[in-house]
Amino acid sequence: MKVNPADFIRAIPDFPKPGIIFRDITPLLSNAEALRATIGHFVDRYQDQGITQVVGMEARGFIFGTALAHALGVGFVPLRKPGKLPGATLKQSYALEYGEDTLEMHSDALTAADKVVIIDDLLATGGTALAAVQLVEKSAAQLHECAFVITLQALPGVKRLDEAGIPHYTLCEF
Ligand code: 5GP
Repeated sequence: MKVNPADFIRAIPDFPKPGIIFRDITPLLSNAEALRATIGHFVDRYQDQGITQVVGMEARGFIFGTALAHALGVGFVPLRKPGKLPGATLKQSYALEYGEDTLEMHSDALTAADKVVIIDDLLATGGTALAAVQLVEKSAAQLHECAFVITLQALPGVKRLDEAGIPHYTLCEF
């Protein structure tokens, strides 16, 4: 019988701060069938769509993104925290609960000929995903869809992506 990836996501209360329930994907990663089912689900959705690159955010987007890119037979483009990429970069800042953060992408990583899927483990407020979309837009590549393993329904990420007209897809909702 096929496993359900949602059964392998563990809720850890009060991490990283009191009052926050952290959705831990490490049980999903360490279970071979759950990992295969997760990646297989995205492969089914994105194969034959003309995708040329998968874009993933540091750090957990790297895990799912690289596996998906490999299975689709396309490349992977990492979006990194500031100062990590060695070449010339495009930068996009976004608001956090307190302060702001920035994502960077190599300026030459994508071209207008690319059609990309952005993937991350989880959509919460949508700040990270919107910054990733803006980086892809700056590169002039075409965005096919943003994909998430998990979406937190109580947080505004879905609404923000909808309002911005950005197509998105999630495997599990909590
Ligand atoms: P957002 O920018 O949508 O508020 O937050 C999404 C980002 O924060 C993602 O890159 C994700 O990795 C991380 N994140 C926030 N909360 C959680 C959580 O409960 N579990 C996991 N696995 N990642 C989280």
